[in-house]
Amino acid sequence: MDDCLFCKIISGDIKSDKIFENEFVLVFRDINPKAPVHLLVVPKKHIASIMEIEKLGHGEIAEIMGSISRIAKELGLDKDGFRVVTNTGQGAGQSVAHLHFHVLGKRTFHWPPG
Ligand code: 5GP
Ligand code: ZN
Repeated sequence: MDDCLFCKIISGDIKSDKIFENEFVLVFRDINPKAPVHLLVVPKKHIASIMEIEKLGHGEIAEIMGSISRIAKELGLDKDGFRVVTNTGQGAGQSVAHLHFHVLGKRTFHWPPG
């Protein structure tokens, strides 16, 4: 996708602070963090949102979810708790139309979210 910001980050055309990368997934720090740790976990294959999840293979989905728990463990986010969010569509505040999971940690979170 030529005009997709996260595809440009995946290709390296736009720089990012990378945390983890493999064949299927890239994890990097959010440029405008909403918590002391704020990561974005994205599939390398472009899909617009979780509403297109059937376009990913089971292996890719397992890699994405597995990378979230692995990295949460490595960074010690699981000790006090952390949050995983995927904003979907305009009403939920999705601003980049490439599936991404926000992983937020190292502060207190309230429920329900805003
Ligand atoms: P959304 O609003 O779609 O749920 O999340 C998009 C996220 O991408 C936002 O939290 C925003 O701060 C982040 N973001 C936007 N542009 C860039 C960028 O160029 N680099 C990085 N690392 N994050 C970005
Ligand atoms: Zn994309």
